[in-house]
Amino acid sequence: MSPSRELVLGGGRVILADRVLTPGWVAVSGEQIEALGSGPPPPSASVVDCDGLWLVPGFVDMHVHGGGGASFASDDMHEIARAAEFQRAHGATSVIASLVSAPLDALEHQLAALASCADAGLIAGVHLEGPWLSPVRCGAHDPRFLRAPDAGEVRKLLEAGRGCIRMVTLAPELPGALEAIRAITAHGAVAAIGHTDADYAQTRVAIEAGARVATHLFNAMRPLHHREPGAVLGVLEDRRVTLEIIADGLHVHDGLLRWLVASAGAERIALITDAISATGAGDGDYALGGQRVVVRHGEARLAVDQSTLAGSTLTMAAAVRHGVAKLGLEVESAARMASQVPARALGLGGAGTLRVGGRADLVLLDDAATLHGTLWRGEWVGEPPRATR
Ligand SMILES: [Zn+2]
Repeated sequence: MSPSRELVLGGGRVILADRVLTPGWVAVSGEQIEALGSGPPPPSASVVDCDGLWLVPGFVDMHVHGGGGASFASDDMHEIARAAEFQRAHGATSVIASLVSAPLDALEHQLAALASCADAGLIAGVHLEGPWLSPVRCGAHDPRFLRAPDAGEVRKLLEAGRGCIRMVTLAPELPGALEAIRAITAHGAVAAIGHTDADYAQTRVAIEAGARVATHLFNAMRPLHHREPGAVLGVLEDRRVTLEIIADGLHVHDGLLRWLVASAGAERIALITDAISATGAGDGDYALGGQRVVVRHGEARLAVDQSTLAGSTLTMAAAVRHGVAKLGLEVESAARMASQVPARALGLGGAGTLRVGGRADLVLLDDAATLHGTLWRGEWVGEPPRATR
């Protein structure tokens, strides 16, 4: 006898890894997707009518610093859990918690707490953003904490992560950076190019050494120049590199993002939030890695230099909505850029696609990509989307 189907979502358009079921259904049992298919849903004690909605893999935010007033850069597991919970309520069923540049011992303490949260399944991994970044492209990172990668320190931090570090952003032009890229890759994490003043040639060398992600493309790197096209063209040209973008209408001009989608293809672009603790917590004064941040009208900037953006107050749900409304993306494309692309870039096998036996992490979107419900490990986050029958 097959186990009873506890929950069936039927009548919606189901986005699978390689096709869309129109209409299709997804049956959930416990934390897993027990079955899925096209046509009318099978009988079940609890069917959610998803007519007019898209069933999308739960969003994977591969670059996020916090949310709901809580930061991932903490040695307090409760605070880390709160930040993850906030992002989950906005569709990100998998988050890669991002740390900013800090002294070595602070990072080690944060990594210990984050590794425990990863073991508990609260986060999908950790992203070290720094401390091996360029002082001239540091953005909101505290320049006092930036340094060139020392092989011993790289090893120490990777070990402190106990296997939970999935990505490390560094500036490849720094002395020792290529060796670090090889060490990070050998460790099973992804090396990302970012907060960098690398020129075009240095970027190409970094990709050859193993770098596979561009951290918030266009932000905190040399602008594209026709005689020195810098890291931007270096990463664009190589289809092995996944391109992170912050699609909030503020970090990168929407026209440039439309051009990027047309030229690089949606399958290479990952929507990220780069969200800080202030996200969803209102305007005011906040901290980010020891720097004071002022949030006004939802825009986060360094207090000492308000021309410098300090992360965002974006959510994955808002990024996907922006992609559909302002970048002209199909819901299907925007959904994949928020789930499948980042999961593939970081090798997160359990996330990013809807498949039988996989985790029941999914979100419901309408044609404007407005979020109507989030299922995390088979449970609704907050209220169920509609009356079940
Ligand atoms: Zn960041």
